[in-house]
Amino acid sequence: MGIMDRGRIRTSTIRNAQQGRPGRPPVRLRYLLLLLISVGLFYATRPPDEPPGIQGSSQSSTVIQPGLQTVVPKPMVSDPVVSEFRIKRGDTFYGILKDLGIDDDSIMALASKRLDGVSLSRLVAGKTYRVISRNDEAVEYQYEPDETRIIRVTFDEDYPAVSIEAIPYTTKLVTISGTIEDSLFRAVSDIGEEPMLAMDLSEVFAWQIDFFRDLRKGDSFRVLVEKIYRDGEFVRYGRILSTQFINSGNRYMAFLFQPKNGRSDYFDEEGGSLRKQFLKTPLKFRRISSGFSRRRRHPVTGKVVPHMGVDYVAPIGTPIRAIGDGKIVMKKKDSVNGRIIKIRHNSTYSSAYAHMNSFASGMANGVRVKQGQIIGYLGRSGRVTGPHLHFTMYRNNRYVDPRAVNVPRASSVPKRDMEAYLKLIDDRMAVLANGELEAGLRTKD
Ligand SMILES: [Zn+2]
Repeated sequence: MGIMDRGRIRTSTIRNAQQGRPGRPPVRLRYLLLLLISVGLFYATRPPDEPPGIQGSSQSSTVIQPGLQTVVPKPMVSDPVVSEFRIKRGDTFYGILKDLGIDDDSIMALASKRLDGVSLSRLVAGKTYRVISRNDEAVEYQYEPDETRIIRVTFDEDYPAVSIEAIPYTTKLVTISGTIEDSLFRAVSDIGEEPMLAMDLSEVFAWQIDFFRDLRKGDSFRVLVEKIYRDGEFVRYGRILSTQFINSGNRYMAFLFQPKNGRSDYFDEEGGSLRKQFLKTPLKFRRISSGFSRRRRHPVTGKVVPHMGVDYVAPIGTPIRAIGDGKIVMKKKDSVNGRIIKIRHNSTYSSAYAHMNSFASGMANGVRVKQGQIIGYLGRSGRVTGPHLHFTMYRNNRYVDPRAVNVPRASSVPKRDMEAYLKLIDDRMAVLANGELEAGLRTKD
């Protein structure tokens, strides 16, 4: 970040200057900038038509709806203006409220508050907050700590008032069907649905169908799924209750069912589990030295960077096993990862194994490996402080905590639940076959 950018911070063009900028200044520099900005704002006379709060928060916020951000001339009476921002790493509750013109004492009092177990000062990067302003003055700050609750801080009294409320959602059950032309994503978007449905559907059948390679033109699907709305607007999909996928003439079915003493899971028409299980770890004997974390100080560089995997410490030469059946999609050596192998297990999951001392014989791109097969030996190749295995898992090409993937072993529907399960199948099969739901439920087809 250069001097030019620093100069721009105090002008209203900052938002455009920051949009599209790929990087982000280092945290310490950002604090320095914040300090400069606050000092600057303190001494500078604000141009008459600039809203104090909104302008001030621009240096730390991404604008989601730029149209709402434009500076409007001061009318005598104005409608509330809602501005949405995204929390960035380094943003603080203090900084945001300070930028809205709230005094230190009030901010401190608010920051120490906990509502329903939620601390007001705890912000999560990536989440949205909203500022409602009237006559260029912030009258309300809203933050949603999770998908179910909203925190409101209102500023129209002498001191801020704060509350936490449930976000009202409505759920509709719909059946959706489609036919594959070339991809599941396109089939889903052709019928006016969101890509997320394709993701969800491909996860249900992750072990049965490779959605990137096995699909044929004319394959088809039917899904009974919850759609969740907020204020009449679609927000996201809920659970897929049942689904049928016809792939190259083979019919696959999945029913979501919760056995009496078990967890909710997908089962086939016979009550068998659709989910196969990965090995819990790629090493038989090991110690975890560093877990999955989105924020960790790197032992070599000292920088705080996410650690998107799990480090297992074990002696050099300890065998490393593939956690599941799959195909080797990468085998290479580089200065960071050392000797690394990446295995694609299905269209949803992949895993990678870094810093190996040596590869097992026969390992090569395109080779198929079995669950438990030795693919290499633990080592200290690449950028490391000592011998360890850096193990990574990916779900839909994104890092995922391996421990979050390895849910308890999948089993069939227990005998005592079979009657209930078969009844559920009958009902849902009828719904899927007809594309019609019981009275009272809305359909879409
Ligand atoms: Zn690591």
